Amino acid sequence: MPTVLFPGSFDPFTLGHADIVKRGLALFDSIVIGVGVNEGKQAVQSADERVQSIAALYKGEPRISVRKYSGLTVDFAQEVGVSAILRGVRNVKDFEYERDIAAVNKLLTGIETVLLFCAPEYAAISSSLVRELQSYGKDVSAWMPK
Ligand code: ADP
Repeated sequence: MPTVLFPGSFDPFTLGHADIVKRGLALFDSIVIGVGVNEGKQAVQSADERVQSIAALYKGEPRISVRKYSGLTVDFAQEVGVSAILRGVRNVKDFEYERDIAAVNKLLTGIETVLLFCAPEYAAISSSLVRELQSYGKDVSAWMPK
C-alpha cells in the first residue's frame, strides 16, 4: 500500500489523532502527517511548534514524516504525491463534513479519502476541548500522547 496524507490542524495533537496514525500504519506503507497553517484560525501553538512536537513523538518511526503546509489540502496531497487522504470520524457532524470535502477533493484531483471511525474511548476528545480546558489551567495529560 502507498503513502497516505493525514492532514489536520493538530492544535494540539491528541490521543485521538495518535490512534488514527497507529491504525493508518496498518493500512498504508507510510504516513505524511500534514500540519495545516490556517491563516483564519488563531492557533495556540505555531505550526512549526506543532510540527516539532509531532515529529519528536514519532522520532523512531521511519514510516512517519511530519510536514507543514498552507493552502488547500488537496494541492498539498498532489505536491506530496499521495493518492489518498486519511481522516478520522467521531460523529455525524464529522461524517457530513468529511463526506462533502472528500467529494470535492475527488472531483478536483481523483484523490480518494479513507475514513477511519474513531475508537469509542477517544470519541469525546477534540483539540478544541483540550485547548479550552488548558485555558482554565486544567490537566489534560489523560488525552495527550506521552
Ligand atoms: P481539522 O482542523 O482539519 O479538522 P483536526 O486536527 O481537528 O483538524 O483533526 C484532524 C483529523 O483527526 C480529522 O479527520 C478529525 O476528524 C480527526 N480527529 C480529531 N480528533 C479525533 C479523535 N478523538 N479520534 C479520531 N479522530 C479524530
